[in-house]
Amino acid sequence: MRDYKIPDQLKQFITADTIVVRSPGRINLIGEHTDYNEGFVLPAAIDKAVYVAVEKNPGTRLNLQSVDFNESIEVEIRDIKPVPGHWSTYIFGVVDQFIRKGQFVTGFKLSIYGDVPLGAGLSSSAAVECAVAFALNELLQSGFSRKELALMAQAAEHQYAGVKCGIMDQFASLFGKKDHVIRLDCRSLEYEYFPLELGEYVIVLFDTMVKHSLGSSEYNIRRSQCEEGVMLIGQNYPSVHSLRDATMEMVNECIGEFETAHRRCKYVVEEIDRLQKGCEDLQAGDLIAFGKKMFATHDGLSKEYEVSCKELDYLVDNVRNNPAVIGARMMGGGFGGCTINIISKDMVEELVAKLSEDYKKDMGKELKHYLVNIEDGTSVIGR
Ligand code: ADP
Ligand code: MG
Repeated sequence: MRDYKIPDQLKQFITADTIVVRSPGRINLIGEHTDYNEGFVLPAAIDKAVYVAVEKNPGTRLNLQSVDFNESIEVEIRDIKPVPGHWSTYIFGVVDQFIRKGQFVTGFKLSIYGDVPLGAGLSSSAAVECAVAFALNELLQSGFSRKELALMAQAAEHQYAGVKCGIMDQFASLFGKKDHVIRLDCRSLEYEYFPLELGEYVIVLFDTMVKHSLGSSEYNIRRSQCEEGVMLIGQNYPSVHSLRDATMEMVNECIGEFETAHRRCKYVVEEIDRLQKGCEDLQAGDLIAFGKKMFATHDGLSKEYEVSCKELDYLVDNVRNNPAVIGARMMGGGFGGCTINIISKDMVEELVAKLSEDYKKDMGKELKHYLVNIEDGTSVIGR
């Protein structure tokens, strides 16, 4: 593990008894909308993280302090309940998970600070949950494994934030490894690291600064279209239980007449395959071939899966023929958020300046960008 510094923002809360934990945000290189189809994803933890400082309180009182929201909360453990929309809900959700697992949770003080941009698609919420889960595991000596903590963090998000997310975000935060991506099998939770040697390139995210409200309803529609496809394939191939099990031949044979479902399922089956081949590219050190697959993912998401939007398409189309950009695609569920780009280091400044100007002119919004490095997952950084 690398040596990560305790941020200055938390130093005032640290005493001789404090444990400090860092848990990062995440990106996903390839493998979008594959998680709920029991496929693979390829995330990595980044150098933007959430930090918590915890120490025991006598009794059963929780004292929570958010640096970023400049707010403190005091509550008895027996009184915690979901407060969706409030930062404390992610912390309560994790405490609730420890209790449900039969852990005795003592009172504690917890101070939290982070530099993962909120709501930009880098999973700041998962970073919060994982930081808290890891810190409590240390504080209470509970002995949960990283995998158990990831599942508890995910359950906290489901039950206390009301967001039915997959496991990728929490897994990536907890299992990240410097300069590697994680190929996670969303069915078995088996995983393997692949090196991402960027050399003269860097990863840059462009934030559309939009979040179209279509997102959640369309997400549910996509899920049911995939289920419909699986049902149709299952009539001829009973061993197919998810699109993970399907081939393009099956998709063509069984869903051919259903134009929309066919396009949706084609994207998913191709994306799962693309991710596997992308891992081979990484092993061979062929970043150029990997980057081309990112563009192909974007095209599939935009034209076949139809979860892009004009802002995301604009940002990808604008860099597509730029020789300094070897790969770009929308990242996340869609309808807003960020694009992820692999860009030649020397050209970033110039490209950002030009793209920001164009985006402002054509889309009427300020473009935000984040340079990200791939870092280790959750760890204790001070005690
Ligand atoms: P994201 O895509 O970043 O996960 P979410 O809406 O799921 O977006 O989660 C963002 C929420 O997570 C914030 O509104 C806040 O409640 C919580 N959060 C994220 N970072 C912090 C932080 N540094 N301190 C306290 N709460 C945080
Ligand atoms: Mg979130």
